[in-house]
Amino acid sequence: MHRRVLVVFVDALGPSQLEAAGGLGGLPYRGRLRGILGYSCGALPTLLTGVPPARHGRMCLFARATDGDGVLAPLACLGFLPRVLHERSRVRRLAAWMLARRAGLTGYVELYRVPPALFRWLDLPEREDLFTAERIGGAETFLSEARRAGLRVFAAPWQLPEDARWAHTEEVLRAQRPDLAFAYATELDGALHRTGNGSADAQRATRRIAARIQRAAETLRAGGGEVTTIVVGDHGMADIGRVIDPRGLLRRLHGVRAFVDSTMLRVWGEDRALARARELLEGAELPGQWLDTRALEARQAPTRGAPHGQALFLLQEGALFAPSFVGGAMRGMHGYDVDSPSAFAAVASDTPIPETCRALTDVAPWVRSLLGLSVPSVLPPGDRGNEEVTWDVV
Ligand SMILES: [Zn+2]
Repeated sequence: MHRRVLVVFVDALGPSQLEAAGGLGGLPYRGRLRGILGYSCGALPTLLTGVPPARHGRMCLFARATDGDGVLAPLACLGFLPRVLHERSRVRRLAAWMLARRAGLTGYVELYRVPPALFRWLDLPEREDLFTAERIGGAETFLSEARRAGLRVFAAPWQLPEDARWAHTEEVLRAQRPDLAFAYATELDGALHRTGNGSADAQRATRRIAARIQRAAETLRAGGGEVTTIVVGDHGMADIGRVIDPRGLLRRLHGVRAFVDSTMLRVWGEDRALARARELLEGAELPGQWLDTRALEARQAPTRGAPHGQALFLLQEGALFAPSFVGGAMRGMHGYDVDSPSAFAAVASDTPIPETCRALTDVAPWVRSLLGLSVPSVLPPGDRGNEEVTWDVV
């Protein structure tokens, strides 16, 4: 009987969160992985494909539409509603649901607090369900490769609420004993955002996750044969020490398009306008730094076509833009520079972690080798990969 693999993806499991959780059920082999610049919507594709954001094109939830209207354009009409109405979470959820149905989006669709006028030029790169998609921005996921190789693959439906998703996961592991199982825990990320590191909420979440991982591994092992468990995060979490209201800065930014995420202010515009934006942001004595296209390239961020900004001002770890276009003040946040402690992801296993597994990009090759899958196929960028597939309006 061949080896089976259980991958448990725990959102916001960084090295310090893993240690605080006692190794999540005591998995003996632990390591840290270099993360990416951006948020989970960039980290998860990297984890699944083994290629950096520069190749798969994902980094932030919202990108600039590159050609004509993006998929979000119809939502600009929300601007006709009074702000107290269109900013209500129920109205936003309904609009997101209608958009997803109308445009056939199966990925994560959430509108947060994006000002309606911006929907005219914004796009959502994540059009597909990452766990069932064959490719993400041209790069094949290890889930898809395993399916193509004829293995039995289970990927937890991320759309389900946490408890229901885990109940479903255990049921499928028991009944089908897949060769590759991909489980998904989101509640630690939510708890850390709300209440910060070390909070009772976060501790309860990690205890539940540890118990669930143990049960899932035992269930899979009960079927006989060798099972390898890999628990992996996408980034960690930093506690917020300083909140910066970006609204005054936005009013003074002229001649550029700007998008404010929780930790970065991204801009698009002509060279001179970008230079003025840089001067303004650097002169505002914010904790952080300006990253131009070259600095983004050095971090393997997607730069061709500048979907996520021609340049951006990235806050230092522990600082937060609030209110931003994606949320308000919180106790914890991630999305800082790649060398920040919170930008590292944790990995833990019941088998020794290969020496070569040092970054988020290295997990997919490890899973492939455990399952005996062949070399991954990545479409060359500029062919059908990356830009065209990822953010062009088709
Ligand atoms: Zn998060």
